[in-house]
Amino acid sequence: MTAAAATAVAPVTARAGGLGWVLANIATVTGRNLHRLVRVPTLAAFATAQPVMFVLLFTYAFGGAIHPPGVEHYVDYLLPGLYVLTIAFGASQTGVAVAEDLATRMIDRFRALPMARSAVLAGRAAAGTVRNLFVLTLMTAVGTAVGFRFHAGPAAAAGAIGLALLVGLAFSWINALIGLLVRDPEAAGLAGLLPVIALVFTSSTFVPVATMPGWLQAFANVNPVTVTVDALRALCLGGPTAAPVWQVGAGPAGLTLAAQLHSFGARVRLVDRQLDRVHESRALAIQPRTLEVLAGLGVTQTLVGLGNTAVQVRLHAGHRVVSIPLYDTGVADTAYPFLLFLSQAETERVLGKQLQRRGVPVERGVELAGIDQPGPAQTSLTCRLRHRNG
Ligand SMILES: Cc1cc2nc3c(=O)[nH]c(=O)nc-3n(C[C@H](O)[C@H](O)[C@H](O)COP(=O)(O)OP(=O)(O)OC[C@H]3O[C@@H](n4cnc5c(N)ncnc54)[C@H](O)[C@@H]3O)c2cc1C
Repeated sequence: MTAAAATAVAPVTARAGGLGWVLANIATVTGRNLHRLVRVPTLAAFATAQPVMFVLLFTYAFGGAIHPPGVEHYVDYLLPGLYVLTIAFGASQTGVAVAEDLATRMIDRFRALPMARSAVLAGRAAAGTVRNLFVLTLMTAVGTAVGFRFHAGPAAAAGAIGLALLVGLAFSWINALIGLLVRDPEAAGLAGLLPVIALVFTSSTFVPVATMPGWLQAFANVNPVTVTVDALRALCLGGPTAAPVWQVGAGPAGLTLAAQLHSFGARVRLVDRQLDRVHESRALAIQPRTLEVLAGLGVTQTLVGLGNTAVQVRLHAGHRVVSIPLYDTGVADTAYPFLLFLSQAETERVLGKQLQRRGVPVERGVELAGIDQPGPAQTSLTCRLRHRNG
């Protein structure tokens, strides 16, 4: 009986106790756990439906209300966070299954077999990794259908999936430990889920940490889920996303620069100490070259539609009246051979709206209070920001 069962667990000729034998045992237990997933249709259905629901519900429920700086589509911001949430939730199944194996004395039967003891838990964790790979692929497919894109190329995308799988493996082992300690399947499930809920909702999974109250930010910044999600986000969104470009001042120059940086792929956070943009008229005209620069950002047509290109200046010198057609600058090498007369207030409104559409809102009521440099040889700087609300 024992010999027959042993053959079933390790159907290879590897030397007992050797690495090959341990790996073969792990593979067998992994297969057993994966078979269970496939053979229990409700388990497979929930394992498939839950990630799909998470992507669709969170994207459409939160996407209209949350505009994290530097991200055009909320789903780009959301998906790396959902990767962690879903695999962390899924890992609680490891705890439940280990507790079940203990409760049904399956572990005792394994102990009686001539097999590597480590294979029981390692096989469980490996099966969880295969399951996570399926879940991550499914989420990425659904996310892509609703606008998600990897922005940093295939190598970084593979890095993101690899990192998510490693994080899933870590969660599996933690939950296996919980299952061994708690021993009751239901209690193990709850014990695995509660810390995940607490950690996920106090992290950067759904919203930027900067939007949280100060006391919560202190925890959120060191929360391991924040660290993981930010690393995944950097791999998914690319380049400077790991650290945003902080830009101070949302006048016409600042708004234009922020849009330009964003179009180069940078994640931008734009702050201004004023609570609102200017409403009085300041600069009155936009030059042809400026219109050319703004055309690359997609705003020139709107500005031209709002402004006035047909302006004349009449100079009265005694009895003589000289008419100067300002709309005709007489240059042939531009698509905009005129001065565009438009109030600065309107220009700022259009530029601000364009930035908002790019997912870069102006964070108002935030003042750059100072910049600290530890020493002349140091390249790192610390910016001190002061919020109006303290
Ligand atoms: C009353 C007035 C009338 C004008 N009339 C004309 C005119 O008729 N024709 C013309 O061509 N030009 C005019 N100008 C000039 C024109 O408004 C400026 O050239 C233009 O605003 C410059 O744009 P900017 O983006 O460089 O800077 P600004 O528009 O000055 O924007 C700078 C932004 O940075 C923010 N800021 C500054 N320091 C901090 C900090 N430490 N922390 C956070 N935020 C900060 C400010 O709140 C501001 O919103 C006028 C200016 C004024 C004030």
